[in-house]
Amino acid sequence: MIIDKVRIFDGTALLGSGAVEFADGVITRVLTEPAAASGASASASADVIDGTGLTLLPGLIDAHTHVFGAESNLELALAFGVTTELDMFMGPPELTQALCTAAGERADLADMRSSGLVASAPGGHPGHAMPLLPTVAGPDEADAFVAARQAEGAHFIKIIVDDGANHGMSLPALDRATVTALADAARRRGLLTVAHVSAGWSARLALDSGVDMLTHLPLEAALDDAFVSRTADEKRVAIPTLAMLEASAPETSSRPRTGRSLADDPRIVAYLPGHARTAIAEGHEGLCVEKESPEHHFTHALASVARLHRAGVPVLAGTDTNYRPDRACPVVHGASLHTELALLVEAGLTPAAALTAATSAPAAHFGLSDRGVIAPGRRADLVLVEGDPTQDITRTRSIEAIWRGGVRFDRAAYRERTASSAGATRS
Ligand SMILES: [Zn+2]
Repeated sequence: MIIDKVRIFDGTALLGSGAVEFADGVITRVLTEPAAASGASASASADVIDGTGLTLLPGLIDAHTHVFGAESNLELALAFGVTTELDMFMGPPELTQALCTAAGERADLADMRSSGLVASAPGGHPGHAMPLLPTVAGPDEADAFVAARQAEGAHFIKIIVDDGANHGMSLPALDRATVTALADAARRRGLLTVAHVSAGWSARLALDSGVDMLTHLPLEAALDDAFVSRTADEKRVAIPTLAMLEASAPETSSRPRTGRSLADDPRIVAYLPGHARTAIAEGHEGLCVEKESPEHHFTHALASVARLHRAGVPVLAGTDTNYRPDRACPVVHGASLHTELALLVEAGLTPAAALTAATSAPAAHFGLSDRGVIAPGRRADLVLVEGDPTQDITRTRSIEAIWRGGVRFDRAAYRERTASSAGATRS
């Protein structure tokens, strides 16, 4: 297969117009001029797509999702060009393993990696509502916890640093010594750590404890310069989850929730199951922050992203989608990554930097060295869109074609299936 005369965004920058060839699921050639001009044979047997007016991107990676064991979520993700999801909490371990295996093999689902079960304090968030969840009572239990997750096939370790205040509760949280012991144990075992931080105090605790990545951002205040420069100096990574934070923070009249507008975008709606559309338009479930308070502002998160990016901290696109058909979370798989991209641009990233945050950056920082970049030898995870998303980020929604591992996703058939189920409110 050759996609010819196409604008190529390789995961970092726009290469200009050229051609990309792939075979057996792998990119074989990237030409920065049309295939004919280079003498490359569009041999009689090779399929050629004329990419005039289109842009080819690496398959998108959502660096913070919750799949909840539902294959339908991975299909929904792929239908919007998300070829890989990084799941940040799923159980039981047998189900997580089975779904990761299926996602690795099946061309009709987004591929996935998962943390499996999360580390949290006894009686804390989220274990207070899930009594069977293993917890970590202190530093002495950290290594056994990490070893158990590694034995279950976890691809990284997720650590919850949250006292429940955003949900109007006061719950025990992991302390600094315990989080440090978890980060140390994971590092010894070759696993990355991702800390869920609920507020400024928990972000500081996570940074002090040496975790590799921080996910979410405080809403009560923007991160200050000292915190941001330390995050940069210590080579930490941020996964802000702006889509979820926007949906969670109190709405103000000066700034309506942009994520809701997906439900009115014809490029999105045509491929959304009816329940997902309703969830985007009206849903309130599954949010990280529920507390209504005057100092909680989404604009604080936008300001933090701007500061982190300016300081050189890698920022990864992650939605924190909590969607499933029985849970009307307004942040849904696949579609909401296009909201996240637009919010990263609103925060001050260039469109190219936002695209990097959803392609080569998560691949590099999560060790997915086979994807995220358009280059010979990488997986043919590709998204072809109309227009130039490095000029207008919303062009990522104008999807012409999606390939996962070189296999084209049948978007037309998916559209028909979703249209026929559009009347259903549950599935
Ligand atoms: Zn999450």
